[in-house]
Amino acid sequence: MNQQIVSNSIQEINHYNRVLEGNKRYVAKKLSEDPNYFKTLSKGQSPKYLLIGCSDSRAPPNELTETDPGEIFIHRNIANLVIPTDLNLNCVIQYAVEHLHIHNIVVMGHTCCGGVKAAMTQDSVGGLLDLWLNQIKLVYEKHADLIESFVDENDKINCLSQLNVRAQVMNIWKNPIVQKAWQKGNPVMVHGWLFRVETGYIEELLIDQHTPEEMCKVYALKFKLESEKQLSKHVSPAGSPKNNAKKRFLNMQRKLIEHINQLKENNIIDQDVETKEIGGFIESSKDL
Ligand SMILES: [Zn+2]
Repeated sequence: MNQQIVSNSIQEINHYNRVLEGNKRYVAKKLSEDPNYFKTLSKGQSPKYLLIGCSDSRAPPNELTETDPGEIFIHRNIANLVIPTDLNLNCVIQYAVEHLHIHNIVVMGHTCCGGVKAAMTQDSVGGLLDLWLNQIKLVYEKHADLIESFVDENDKINCLSQLNVRAQVMNIWKNPIVQKAWQKGNPVMVHGWLFRVETGYIEELLIDQHTPEEMCKVYALKFKLESEKQLSKHVSPAGSPKNNAKKRFLNMQRKLIEHINQLKENNIIDQDVETKEIGGFIESSKDL
């Protein structure tokens, strides 16, 4: 028994060392291609894509798309879920959209997804995991008839994987950070991909771009943008231009009433003149 444990431990250590050795080979290869590769990389990033993928070790975004470090901003979790209250993911989306100015967000699911498969069963996989997978069960519940129309079990899983990507794309549409970006005129597009593990190909799912018609209108938030906030800052508080204008208006109104009363006292005003005076006052107040 002890012999077996020692043997297993040696295997684990060897494997672990192999991973670190792999890094050394990676560095050597990159430097042989470009001696300044890592110096350049250290200067900063300007990725064009945010990819939200599954943590599954078979679905590494950079390898699958032949992209280099610095090209894709990546967030991964079990079954590529976009949960509205996920602080981690929301920070990633906000940083990607507002600071990295990324215009393309991709949700990438994959076939043979263990998370999706687990969500389709009644077997518990543990408290937190069950809670997490509930989000996929919601998608299943909505499309149960379609999913169950497939005979093959893998087809059912892959169908739910695809529907799950669509559901997560819609969750991004509903995300306040993305909604705000749209209102500011930032054309953030959200794409849905399904990576087919059995072929290696990525299938682009046809989801209407930027036209979330399926989305209930209450999700389309109306934000007070910075420029409007600045404007209201200058026009509403005490002492602000708008307030001064109001003061000027009240002063002028008071002066006008005094002036009309004086004319009346001197019997040099009739109703027509009064109306004319007031009309002139209103005209002169338009620029306030
Ligand atoms: Zn997965």
